[in-house]
Amino acid sequence: MTTPSKSHGQKSIRATAQPRDLMAQPLAKPKAWQARVITLFPQAFPGLLGQSVLGNALKDGLWGLDTIDLRPFGEGRHRNVDDTPAGGGAGMVLRADVVARALDEAAQGVPHECAQWPVVYLSPRGKPFDQATARQWSKAQGMTMLCGRFEGVDERVLEEYQVQEVSLGDFVLTGGELAAQAMIDATVRLLPDVLGNADSAIDESFSADLLEHPHYTKPASWRGRDIPPVLLSGNHAEIERWRRAQSERLTRERRPDLWQEHAARKADST
Ligand code: SAH
Repeated sequence: MTTPSKSHGQKSIRATAQPRDLMAQPLAKPKAWQARVITLFPQAFPGLLGQSVLGNALKDGLWGLDTIDLRPFGEGRHRNVDDTPAGGGAGMVLRADVVARALDEAAQGVPHECAQWPVVYLSPRGKPFDQATARQWSKAQGMTMLCGRFEGVDERVLEEYQVQEVSLGDFVLTGGELAAQAMIDATVRLLPDVLGNADSAIDESFSADLLEHPHYTKPASWRGRDIPPVLLSGNHAEIERWRRAQSERLTRERRPDLWQEHAARKADST
């Protein structure tokens, strides 16, 4: 049987002054945030997470990614992972015993407290994922993500392992992998040193519960549209005021729910 887990990142061999035993090297720096993803499609990882800033950070060991292939935990010669739903109906359900074996593998050597190591199942029934959740997860040592397929997972394993359900949004995907990648992206970019410019994660949409102001760059005039003159004025206080007003306008117009929360928070703090 092939080993069901695979580490991504930090696989490149680099020249060093000292000889070292490559096999003994940890795949992520010991304290780096780590995602363990249980999936029937380990080949879908790192996917986009291997590109650009997050991909470089993965190679540099600023975070780690381990996929745990669900298939080898399956039953019988064919390693069956799913079966028909009790009570009838369409589709297949991932078996509790099979998923439990993969969750046990994922729990090896990691903290048991869910604040330090959340264990989540990607699910349209879950709590909607948001920036606050990403922030909270980024402060843990890492996390385990269970990607469902077919109709989902036998309920008993979610109860037994106290798995939190988290949703990417009010729509149904074919599997949890895209949701896992989206949530890992949002979390990893909040880790220290991952984004080049430390300010860029602070100033964005949702961080201050307002949507972000519009951006412009060269050319100053394009198809008869000019950059708002205040942005070219060099007056930083004016620019800040303009950006703030734009953020407030966009939030009011597009997301009345966020605007209300923002107004309530402001009222509380005065
Ligand atoms: N029968 C389920 C949908 C299953 S979709 C239902 O109606 O609720 C198959 C898998 O895709 C799920 O097990 C889950 O892991 C994943 N998935 C689908 N939509 C998702 C979403 N919005 N957020 C996170 N994961 C999702």
